Amino acid sequence: MLSELKELEKLKVVSEMAASISHEVRNPLTVTKGFLQLLQDKTISDDKKEFYIRLSLNELERAEVIISDYLTFAKPSLENVELLELNEEIDYVMKIVTPYATMRNITIHLFKAEAIFVAGERQKFHQCLINIIKNGIEAMPGSGQVTINLHQSNEQAVIDIQDTGIGMSNDQVRRLGTPYYSTKTTGTGLGTMVVYSIIKAMRGEIKVESQQGIGTRFTIKLPIVDCKM
Ligand code: ADP
Ligand code: MG
Repeated sequence: MLSELKELEKLKVVSEMAASISHEVRNPLTVTKGFLQLLQDKTISDDKKEFYIRLSLNELERAEVIISDYLTFAKPSLENVELLELNEEIDYVMKIVTPYATMRNITIHLFKAEAIFVAGERQKFHQCLINIIKNGIEAMPGSGQVTINLHQSNEQAVIDIQDTGIGMSNDQVRRLGTPYYSTKTTGTGLGTMVVYSIIKAMRGEIKVESQQGIGTRFTIKLPIVDCKM
């Protein structure tokens, strides 16, 4: 009964989100269309051209993030489950987030472990880590550090992602994972919601500890797949 209620509740959220997502995606598309029309003008300066192209790419990227976050929430079940080696997957994610961090004067430190295998869908797992790390980076105006620590404990893989950012109050931590909760002017409030649903689909746990003015630590625990013969 309880699980049926939860399913109904989720269906409601999913359909409400579909409506507002089409709205949110239409904005960047309209803006990009406008810039492309402006670019048809052969007489505009190179500076202007570059400006229009950069803004269009930003807008399209935003639309892409909104859509992929929404789809992951609507369909978190894992279809293409593979064996993932965590050191390798985190290395891959580092390649994606490092330019974003460098641009904002932030360094990422990674402490790896011996090979650890878990089961999951590669792309969704990447999206989950990227969403957490990006939030950490965005919580550090000026500069700061993100520390990622991978280790094993009691048959579980543990990934700690810690930032030296602005932190959150207990109330803010409680609201994490609920749709549209965002304190950012251009935030979507979908990132952590996706994180929670992916970790749940991987039969893992997630814990958040945060202190205002000090920083935040996300701890993800995942069941290890034993690969020894
Ligand atoms: P968005 O990043 O689009 O705002 P998220 O779901 O990713 O949406 O995050 C929701 C909110 O949670 C953020 O707006 C921010 O207020 C808070 N938050 C998440 N991660 C952190 C963090 N590492 N440090 C401080 N605040 C955070
Ligand atoms: Mg986010």
